Amino acid sequence: MAENGTILTTVRLATEYLEYLPHNPLRSTMEYYWTSMLTNYSKFDVATWISFLYHEVLYFAICLPAFLCQFIPAMQKYKIQQEKPESFDNQWKCFKLLVLNHFFVQFPLILGTYTFTELFGIPYDWESMPAWYDTAWRVYLCAVFEDTWHYFMHRLLHHKRIYKYIHKLHHNFQAPFGMVAEYAHPVETVVLGFGFFIGVLLLTNHFIMIWAWLLFRLFETVDVHTGYDLPFNPLHLLPFYGGARFHDFHHMNFQGNYSSTFTWWDKIFGTDQQFKEFTAKQEKSLKSD
Ligand SMILES: [Zn+2]
Ligand SMILES: [Zn+2]
Repeated sequence: MAENGTILTTVRLATEYLEYLPHNPLRSTMEYYWTSMLTNYSKFDVATWISFLYHEVLYFAICLPAFLCQFIPAMQKYKIQQEKPESFDNQWKCFKLLVLNHFFVQFPLILGTYTFTELFGIPYDWESMPAWYDTAWRVYLCAVFEDTWHYFMHRLLHHKRIYKYIHKLHHNFQAPFGMVAEYAHPVETVVLGFGFFIGVLLLTNHFIMIWAWLLFRLFETVDVHTGYDLPFNPLHLLPFYGGARFHDFHHMNFQGNYSSTFTWWDKIFGTDQQFKEFTAKQEKSLKSD
């Protein structure tokens, strides 16, 4: 934990230093692209078409590294469920439904973004751009709200009376891979997706906040579905982050570890018990080998 604190402080100081440089290359590049986007496109275009494109490009770009891992023998030691490698059929099946889901379920949801920002007077301009640390704590809080919503709704979706109608689809893959993150029944996309909007409704102070939160959420949800516990994963610097092993166990076991990002709700309600026992057993057998 102390190590996390030191790393975060170093990153913060380095970025603050960069911000005070007279010609901060990172900030001026961002300013250039942001202002030219706003000059060439209307706010509606940015909130709708560019946001949709942003989501598509990011989603598949984030999925790419772990997708490539299946072709690299040296990466196989990081695969969590060693006995269940990715198959072409499964990945193709997932991709097809995913594209349909993105166009016919997620895009209509994205359509509401412009109306929301107009209704609440959310600024888009460069002059109102918040500092990175202001956006960072808002994004973290968004993740806390989303994780809470996700925990309780996800548990509800596992209720034996409704499981087979909605959530069973996401569990088609007992050994998940990155693309599985958004592979879900349309009702699930809307129900669990609401958790994403809680933070947006409560904490957005600039349009960039929505994109920053989406960026984080995509990194997080793809990471926990990759099926690989990769070393040097910066997301593990986040206090109480669950990670790939945590959610992979949920897919393997169909029970427990209901949270999306953090581990506290499962700890509080004891729904991580089977995971703890499984991990302890694995560690024991590793030691005896
Ligand atoms: Zn589930
Ligand atoms: Zn999942």
